[in-house]
Amino acid sequence: LSDRLTETFRNLRTKGKLSAADVDGTVREIRRALLDADVALVVVKDFTAKVRERALGDEVSKALNPAQQVVQIVNEELVQILGGAQRRLEFAKTPPTVIMLAGLQGSGKTTFAGKLAKQLEKDGHTPLLVAADLQRPNAVNQLQVVAEQAGATIYAPEPGNGVGDPVKVSRDGVEHARRQQHDVVIIDTAGRLGVDAELMKQASDIRKATNPDEVLFVIDAMIGQDAVNTAKAFQEGVDFTGVVLSKLDGDARGGAALSVASVTGRPIIFASTGEGLDDLEPFYPDRMASRILDLGDILTLIEQAQQAFDEEEAQKVAEKFATDQFTLEDFLGQLQQMKKMGSMKKMLGMLPGMGQMKQQLEDFDEKEIDRTEAIIRSMTPGERQNPKVLNGSRRVRIAKGSGMTVTDVNQLVQRFDQAAKMMKTVARGGTPNIPGMGAM
Ligand code: GDP
Ligand code: MG
Repeated sequence: LSDRLTETFRNLRTKGKLSAADVDGTVREIRRALLDADVALVVVKDFTAKVRERALGDEVSKALNPAQQVVQIVNEELVQILGGAQRRLEFAKTPPTVIMLAGLQGSGKTTFAGKLAKQLEKDGHTPLLVAADLQRPNAVNQLQVVAEQAGATIYAPEPGNGVGDPVKVSRDGVEHARRQQHDVVIIDTAGRLGVDAELMKQASDIRKATNPDEVLFVIDAMIGQDAVNTAKAFQEGVDFTGVVLSKLDGDARGGAALSVASVTGRPIIFASTGEGLDDLEPFYPDRMASRILDLGDILTLIEQAQQAFDEEEAQKVAEKFATDQFTLEDFLGQLQQMKKMGSMKKMLGMLPGMGQMKQQLEDFDEKEIDRTEAIIRSMTPGERQNPKVLNGSRRVRIAKGSGMTVTDVNQLVQRFDQAAKMMKTVARGGTPNIPGMGAM
């Protein structure tokens, strides 16, 4: 969110004990940050009241590190509102599973229908897309195109039969799926630019006629403060079992996610992140919480690194980090992998607190990796395994061997220590506090 919030947390981190004033100051910043992220005011008020109450309570005053405890509480409460654990799609015991989509026009329903169909196909399902948006002349066509791209079958009213009845088309579509042995039916419905009674009645009638296993409310993450009213209207008008957050690829910080989840109590199941049919992800409450808090998407970072790393290698490294057995030899291997990954700056940009480190990022130089490699290569295997043996004379020898100065060698060893500590925290699932990533 804001650099200010990061700053507030940093100040808290260095404090031993928290006063009521500290807590109030922090809560004020959190409120500001959430409002900046377009979280609805009612949700913000409710949230900050809860955080304040817990932060002033026993669990904080008795904690070893009260400041970190507050950060922890904020994170926990965010995850809680966002639905706690990740929720998956529910399938019917007896197929077909019926999934109905609802939401405003332009929210991304038709696109999502195609994305979901494609993903289901990949998982071995045989989805049928039902075109129940008969409002706009082009809507059936659009679904046809999307279905083709997804390699899925579509059920649509015969052309030339005049304006069809979306409720009948939906009911017939489910019947068709049953006869043709499609195990999932996705019903794409019409939307309006604003909430309106006729639209709600139609959606509600489709729901009654098809008895869906899931009704997914698709909402544009960029909708901002309107999220609460729209979500409430759909909950009252049709009711839904889950939420799809679309257009999360834009600047949206996820404020809408927090508002919708908080006001409706319904879980967010999918995040739609682009116009392409492959841009669909399961929704992870904990990752969204840290995205909202701007702690940096550490899990995404680790995932990206793992894609470049050999899986098995990554596993070994994670274990070494967690158990403190990470050596300079391993570090050397990592540096070579990093070079493979190419966009080092982008990767560093995902680390928390980088808002204040922009300058350091600008200064980051891939040649630095080469220099670091040179130093490690001048060490003996024993030194690489255990940098603690690096006394003065060894450091002089290494500096000479690598054509660097003793200060360079000292800095490397120091940075390695810091990096190993940080990665240990990450590997154990914590949030690292990075003193200076500089040349790592
Ligand atoms: P519908 O009216 O609810 O069916 O919405 P559409 O599926 O037709 O989407 C409306 C517009 O939003 C289209 O131009 C889509 O390409 C675009 N769109 C849908 N989902 C996403 C998304 O996740 N990211 C981005 N950037 N665009 C999206
Ligand atoms: Mg549509």
